Amino acid sequence: MTDRISEALKRYWGYDRLRPLQREAMECVLRGRDSIVVLPTGGGKSLCYQAPALLLPGLTLVISPLISLMKDQIDALVGCGIPAGRLDSSLSAGERSRVSRELGAGGLRLLYVSPERLIAPGFIDFLRGLGVSSVAIDEAHCVSMWGHDFRPEYRRLGLLREAFPEIPIGAYTATATEQVRRDIAVQLRLRAPEILVGSFDRPNLVYRVRRRGEGVRQIRAAIDRHAGESGIVYCLRRSDVDRLTATLRRHGYRAVSYHAGMSDEERHRSQNAFIGEEADLIVATVAFGMGIDKSNVRYVIHAAMPKSLEHYQQESGRAGRDGLEAECLLLYSGADYLTWKRIIQESEPQTVENGLEKLGQMSRYCRGVSCRHRAILAYFGQPPGAEPCGACDICLGEVGGVADSLVVAQKILSSVLRQGERFGANYTAGVLYGSREDRIVANGHDRLSTHGILKTESRSAVRDWIEQLVEQECLARVGDYGVLKLTGRGRRVLAGEERPLLLEAPKTGRAPKAAVEKDSWDGVDRGLFERLRGLRRALAAEAGVPAYVVFGDATLRDLARKKPANPGALLAVFGIGAKKLELYGPRVLAEIRAYAQLPPGPEGGR
Ligand code: ADP
Ligand code: ZN
Repeated sequence: MTDRISEALKRYWGYDRLRPLQREAMECVLRGRDSIVVLPTGGGKSLCYQAPALLLPGLTLVISPLISLMKDQIDALVGCGIPAGRLDSSLSAGERSRVSRELGAGGLRLLYVSPERLIAPGFIDFLRGLGVSSVAIDEAHCVSMWGHDFRPEYRRLGLLREAFPEIPIGAYTATATEQVRRDIAVQLRLRAPEILVGSFDRPNLVYRVRRRGEGVRQIRAAIDRHAGESGIVYCLRRSDVDRLTATLRRHGYRAVSYHAGMSDEERHRSQNAFIGEEADLIVATVAFGMGIDKSNVRYVIHAAMPKSLEHYQQESGRAGRDGLEAECLLLYSGADYLTWKRIIQESEPQTVENGLEKLGQMSRYCRGVSCRHRAILAYFGQPPGAEPCGACDICLGEVGGVADSLVVAQKILSSVLRQGERFGANYTAGVLYGSREDRIVANGHDRLSTHGILKTESRSAVRDWIEQLVEQECLARVGDYGVLKLTGRGRRVLAGEERPLLLEAPKTGRAPKAAVEKDSWDGVDRGLFERLRGLRRALAAEAGVPAYVVFGDATLRDLARKKPANPGALLAVFGIGAKKLELYGPRVLAEIRAYAQLPPGPEGGR
C-alpha cells in the first residue's frame, strides 16, 4: 500500500516525499477509517484525499465550500493528468450535462460538490448510483459554530453518513481548537475517527515585526527584497489600500488593489492579474484571501496590526504554501491598537471581552522580545520548536539589545515617577527626548532632571522602549488615557535588582538572509529562473490556468538548478510528472537550450 502511494505521488505530481501526517491521513482513507486531519495552511491537506482517490476503485466525493477553490483544485488535478470535475451552481446546463456524462461513463476519479448542491433533492440518490468509495470534507470547521467561518449548509452534511454507511469520511481543516474538532466529529457523525493534528509551526516562514515608522518606505524596502516575486500587502482600511496602491504604482511597482468597496468585476480583475502574475503584488483588506490558493506567495506584509493572532496566523499563512521560504513582515503602531479597541468596543456586547483579550495578546506579540515561532506556537498551545529558530527577527539577531538596557530603563522609569505617574507614553517620550511642547512646559516638566536625558536617541526609539517596558511588565498602562505607572517589577529594576531587555532601534536597509532563504536558492541559475518564469506566464495564459498550476516556484528553481537536457532528466525535477512532461516538456527543454546558447554576460543574465 505504502509503495503505491509513493508511486502515484511521483507519477502524477512529481513529488518525492510526503509531508508530515500525509501518509497517515492517506492510509486512513485506504483502510476505510474515518479521520479528522488538522494541518496548517499549506500543510498539504488536499493531497491526503487526492492521492487515495487514484488508488481506490470508485469515485471520491469532495465537499468544498468555495467555488473558486474547487475550480483551482480541478485545474491543478487536470494539469497533473487526473480526471476530475465539479458540480455547483456556477456551471452552465451544458457543462453540467458533460460532467454527468463523464460520471456515468465512470471517467472521473474525483467529483467536487458544493454543500448546497449536495443537499438538493434527489442528489444523494444520484450519487448512490455512482459507486462512491470515499468522501472528503474540505474546510470542515465550517460545520462548527465555534469556528471562525460557520456555514449553515455544512450542518446538514451529517446526511452523508446515512447515505454512505460503509465509506470512510475524512474531514480536513486548519482550525485546531479541541472544541471545533469535537464538533466536527459529532456533526458529521464520524465513527471513532482517527485524529491527526500537525504542528502549526511553519518553519519556512521568516517572521519579522517592526514598529511602523515611515510606513511606505518600510513596505517598499520589504517588497524590494522580493523583486519580481508575488506578495500580498494587507491594510486595515479601504482608503489605505487605495492610497498605498497609487503610491506604489507611481514608483513603478506592478500593484493592484482589492477590497470590499470595489465592484465584483474590479475585484475579479485584480485577483486574476495577481494569479496570472501580470501583477506582482496585491494590496488588500482582509476581504482578500479566502479561497485564494496561490502557492507561490513569497511575502505577506501587514501594513497594520491585525486584531488577533488567529487572524495573523491565517493571513500570514498565505505565504509560502509551496514550502519554500517566504517572509512575513508585520508593521504595527499604538494607533492600530486604539483603532481595533474602538471597533471591538462597538461590536456585540458579549464578544467585547474576548475580543479585547485577543487584541491584547496580539499587541504583546508585536512588542515581544522572544522567538516569534515560539510565541505563536505557545499561543496555539503547541509545544515549542527548536530555538534559535533561524527564521525570525529575534533569533536572527536583527534586533539587538541596547548595551546599557538597565540604565536606559532606569532613566525612563524614574521619569515616569517624577512626572507623578499621571501621563501616557507619548508625553513621557517627549519629556525624555527634551521636548518643549506647551503642556510639558506648563507642567514644569522641562525642569525635571530627566528632561532631555535621552535626547541623543530618536523620539520613536524612546517610544519603543517605553512599550517594551510595558510588555515586560515594568510599567502598567492604566485607565482610558493609558497613564503609565510603575509595577513591582519596575521598582525592582529601578533598584537595580532586575534587568529588562531593551532592543536597539532596527537598522534600516537590507535584512540579513535567514538560512531557509539561502538553502532553497542554492545552485539556482537566477537568469534561467527569470526566463522560465516568463515561459510559465505564457504557458499559463495559453492554457487559461493560474501560473502556479503550470509549475510551482520550487519546480522552476529545480529546473534552473538542474538544467535538464532531455525528457528523462526532466522527470527527475521536483513537481514534474508524466502529464507535465507531455504538456510542457518540449517547450521547457527548448527554453533551457536557448538560454545555454546565449553568450555569457549581462544579457545572458549570468
Ligand atoms: P492546504 O490545503 O493544506 O493549505 P494544499 O493541499 O493546497 O495545502 O497544498 C499546498 C501546496 O503544497 C500545493 O501546491 C501542493 O501541491 C503542495 N504539496 C502538497 N503535498 C506535497 C508534498 N508531499 N510534496 C511537495 N509538495 C506538496
Ligand atoms: Zn525565532
